Amino acid sequence: MKVIAATRNAHKLTELSRILEPMGYQVVSQEEVCPGIEVEEDGTTFLENARKKAVEIFRRTGLPTIADDSGLCVDALDGAPGVYSARYADDEGFSHNDKANNRKILRKLEGLPIEKRTARFVSAISFVLGEGDLVECQGTCEGHIAFEEQGDNGFGYDPLFLVEGGSFATISGEEKDRISHRGNALRKLRELLFARQ
Ligand code: IMP
Repeated sequence: MKVIAATRNAHKLTELSRILEPMGYQVVSQEEVCPGIEVEEDGTTFLENARKKAVEIFRRTGLPTIADDSGLCVDALDGAPGVYSARYADDEGFSHNDKANNRKILRKLEGLPIEKRTARFVSAISFVLGEGDLVECQGTCEGHIAFEEQGDNGFGYDPLFLVEGGSFATISGEEKDRISHRGNALRKLRELLFARQ
């Protein structure tokens, strides 16, 4: 089945394709079918934002559309940056800047020992199959925030997010998919879709 990935983030598109294609989906980017559309992410939850993106791109294309809204929740920061993950350091004059976001996290956690640096990635998935026909789920991945960036793979907060074996930016894409919030959410989605058949 052909699905539109409602994202303009090339890294997310790579991960969605890498996980969904072995499940039998052909992933087509939003840019290929309706270029230049930026859906405002003004929801207060990951799921609200994911639904908004999927519904909007489905409305424009009429094709099955999947959206991921995701972010990092740090316990010592009361769950921040959460839904604001992409724009965490915007208030410091950096617009959607991964390096600046990572620096801000490190600064806020300065002096905290590893056991207090617990965090999780969250991915909410909204899959619109037809008018009013939505399948939605969420996946998480638990980890710790490192004391400095580690590794060059991946994107966003990956260099700061420690799991067994290193940071998300030191392990391979396939290893990340096996344990990541996005991998977990999409495997859950597959189960929900199977249950409908
Ligand atoms: P959004 O879902 O487009 O609002 O953006 C999600 C933001 O959360 C990204 O820009 C990253 O900063 C962060 N994020 C989400 N998933 C990941 C991930 O797998 N690795 C690193 N950062 C992530």
